Amino acid sequence: MITKTAFDFCAFFVLAVCFFTGCRWKREYVFQRTILLCFIGLNMILAMMSILNQSILYFGWKFGENALAWLEVTKMVAYLCNAAMPTFFASYILCVAGIARARKKWFYNLFYTPFLFCTGLVLTNPIHHKLFHYVVNHDYYRGSWAGILFAMAVFYTGAGIYFLIRYQKAMERQRMIGMVGAICIAVLFAWIQFRYSYIRVELMGVTLACLALLLNVELNMNDIDTRSGCFNRRAFQAMARRNEIAKSKYFMVSVSFMNLIENTRHLDQDTETRLLQHLGRRFQRLNAALQIYYCTRGTFVLVLVNKEERHLTRLIQDLTEMFASEQYEFEDLKVPVSVEICQARVPEDLNTMYQINEFSEFHVNDANDANGHFRVYDATVLHKVKRDNDVELALRRALEERTLEVVIQPIIDLKSGNIVAGEALTRIHDPNLGTIFPGEFIPLVEGTNQIVRLGEYVLEEVCKLLQNEAMDNVSYVEINLAPYQLIQTDLAKSFIEIMERYGINPKRINLEITETVASDDMKNYEYTLQELRKAGFTFSLDDFGTGYSNLARLFHMEFRNIKIDKSLLWDSMENEISRNFLESMIQTIHHMNAKIIQEGVETREQLEYVTEQGIDLVQGYIFSKPLSIPDFLRKWGKS
Ligand code: C2E
Ligand code: MG
Ligand code: MG
Repeated sequence: MITKTAFDFCAFFVLAVCFFTGCRWKREYVFQRTILLCFIGLNMILAMMSILNQSILYFGWKFGENALAWLEVTKMVAYLCNAAMPTFFASYILCVAGIARARKKWFYNLFYTPFLFCTGLVLTNPIHHKLFHYVVNHDYYRGSWAGILFAMAVFYTGAGIYFLIRYQKAMERQRMIGMVGAICIAVLFAWIQFRYSYIRVELMGVTLACLALLLNVELNMNDIDTRSGCFNRRAFQAMARRNEIAKSKYFMVSVSFMNLIENTRHLDQDTETRLLQHLGRRFQRLNAALQIYYCTRGTFVLVLVNKEERHLTRLIQDLTEMFASEQYEFEDLKVPVSVEICQARVPEDLNTMYQINEFSEFHVNDANDANGHFRVYDATVLHKVKRDNDVELALRRALEERTLEVVIQPIIDLKSGNIVAGEALTRIHDPNLGTIFPGEFIPLVEGTNQIVRLGEYVLEEVCKLLQNEAMDNVSYVEINLAPYQLIQTDLAKSFIEIMERYGINPKRINLEITETVASDDMKNYEYTLQELRKAGFTFSLDDFGTGYSNLARLFHMEFRNIKIDKSLLWDSMENEISRNFLESMIQTIHHMNAKIIQEGVETREQLEYVTEQGIDLVQGYIFSKPLSIPDFLRKWGKS
């Protein structure tokens, strides 16, 4: 008896160890692991039944009359386990491939019908005895319907293998190896038992297969972020891949802690780790179906697969409540938090792997956002931020590779009809993004070193242009200066150096300026202006009539030109208040030494109007759009 059940004994002990170890592990893939643990449990029962069955046969006389009944019961339980095992196995593969949640109810109803049918057959066996029966001398006979159970096992194992092949791309290598290894071991041992029926190793084979699954699929520490105890980036990518293959819809909510991202250290390392673990647990309590990822410092990504919109709404509500106070209470501490939440629906909002990955690291980081310490955004801001980043990179590249184009728009003297000057404007021609206009990229780099580099670049290109004799009929070129450039104390020096390098007189450059600057920077600003003026540069006031330039500036500083913004002209053509304002401004400026440039003259009507008003110079599409340098020289240069 001992030799007959030796393998079953071993199997039982190994299974017990697997079961209890598996139970103790931190449960990340809760549902999936529960199925595997059930599978192991079924095998334990099977081993127990097998041992019991053998014992009854061996010590049959001790059971007396009941021995037959006991044999039947143990066999029946063993049959039940045998019917359930392949079903659990196929379900487990569905889970590992990440498609379990993607399936509809009818699929499961259909999928589990054979199992339910077979379970019914086993339970009713004492009545019909078509599966097996024992005769009085304890001999065991297989019934004529036993083949049905066998067919069911083949069906579920086949289905499992089919899922494995169909969704292989959704599984990581190690998991795949674990699964295939497990199947191979089980099949090999089953074959041994079939071939040499006296070696009872089939159960041992399944046990080893369980061990392989546990070690390769479940004990996957590579998926865990050691700090927060949540899933890491690797697991995040695997999740995205699985859902893409299974065509699952899901919600993602990123929760960014700006204090951690900006590294304003309120917490020591140890406390931060405890806080992250605490947050991970707290998020999990909000919804058991949440998958929680911690991919980059300070940002959690919460994922809800195949849930309804109301679950997302609820989650956002819960998070809002959780961070209602500016101080997050944790242990005995009150931690100041600044939280940004961004929600996205996949695949509606984000439909490429690239975008999904971007999202996991995404935060708007808008310090000016008026919504205080808790802000909720939609995925659309991701696209905007993404575009901004791309544009900024494109500008950086264009400056480095010197592909940024400087275009020139002529400025015409209305009295003579001749060209007097040109305004230098810029265009990025990016291989991926196409042509980008300054209205988009200038605001992105305002206040950064990029705008300083851009200014020097434009000045150099204009100097090169001015070296051309065909430019002799163009008195000067206007260049736009951003306020940030003017508070750089070394700007004048670098501009003068460029002029000397190209041998151009600064009188041929007219710098367009707009806003004033904050009073803190006023000293530097005044200094730079003075130095530039001393060197011979002159100035225009740009965008006059918009909020960016004010009247006080007019009297404060000497300008070569005042440029009236196109919006003021366009408004004046339509409404009287603007027209009165424009006309009184023209009067005022005429009393000063400056000339007036009207920008944005597009139509005959506008041209007639500005001529009537005594405007000196005009810049607008009616004469020419900004032109590439070769085109400008051809059309407007001295022939
Ligand atoms: P801005 O200095 O007011 O330049 C005039 C803008 O009006 C140019 O737009 C020009 O193409 C446009 N414009 C001129 N005439 C017409 C017209 O008749 N109709 C219409 N619809 N538009 C007209 P652009 O080139 O897109 O530049 C936009 C702004 O970007 C400029 O406004 C300027 O503030 C800024 N910018 C351009 N290049 C530079 C640069 O190199 N440095 C700095 N700091 N700013 C620049
Ligand atoms: Mg301008
Ligand atoms: Mg302007």
